[in-house]
Amino acid sequence: MFDLLETIWMCPVCGKMLFKNDALSLQCENHHNFDRARRGAVYLLPPNRKNAGNSGDNPEMVQARRQFLQKGYYSHLLDTLCQALDAYFPENGTLLDAGCGEGYYTKGMRMHLEKQGVSANFYGVDISKTASNYASRADSLINYAVASVFHLPVLDESCDMVVSIFAPYCGEEFQRVLRQDGFFVMAIPSAKHLWELKQAVYDKPYENQVKDYSLDGFQFVKKYECQKYISLDNHEDIQALFEMTPYAYRTSPKEKERLFALDSLTTETAFEVLVYQKVR
Ligand SMILES: [Zn+2]
Repeated sequence: MFDLLETIWMCPVCGKMLFKNDALSLQCENHHNFDRARRGAVYLLPPNRKNAGNSGDNPEMVQARRQFLQKGYYSHLLDTLCQALDAYFPENGTLLDAGCGEGYYTKGMRMHLEKQGVSANFYGVDISKTASNYASRADSLINYAVASVFHLPVLDESCDMVVSIFAPYCGEEFQRVLRQDGFFVMAIPSAKHLWELKQAVYDKPYENQVKDYSLDGFQFVKKYECQKYISLDNHEDIQALFEMTPYAYRTSPKEKERLFALDSLTTETAFEVLVYQKVR
């Protein structure tokens, strides 16, 4: 028999804790069983949403973003997230990356804590099967699931920190899975993020709207800011950067042509990392 290891995963069928019964599958006390693809993420979408794992990012976009991030263009954001961990993440704590994509930041944060000698349990979910599987294969010490941030397959009050990096926000779910006094950390683009890229593509570029910081059920604790100019010297990286932005979906043919003609670009990148605490 294998040892049963506790997790924070919740059975999408009956709501009980899922145990790891070996390296490849998870099981609850009611014998609902969830297999993992080889070294991949476990599939924890509810039974009535079986096909949803094909939504989210397509494989080409995931691959382009992974290559872009691996070149370190956004390493300053990772460093800033790690500063927030140093200040607010407890020894032996549990972190959930809600909307983790291909796991660049998840892995980076885990490795940072490991270097500091802080033990931690890391979990990540993403609705994209491609992205979750990439993430899982890139770091076997993190537990990844294909799941929605709007229906987290995560037990109540099981996390010390929930992280959301340019991912959809679901305050009720984040509240539910956080322990009392747990922290919510959110990364958002600053007003001038990618300003030069927008200037190069659009007739009339707009600054990003930075909303006020209040969130229901959370107390605002701290804001970190980071900013860096990055220089891209090939079209592939510029294209990947553009496709990571929310405006990629509403670009006219003329603007796409301008983007296509760009083979070098220096642009500002600027982020805010906001830390909140769950209100009792
Ligand atoms: Zn079950």
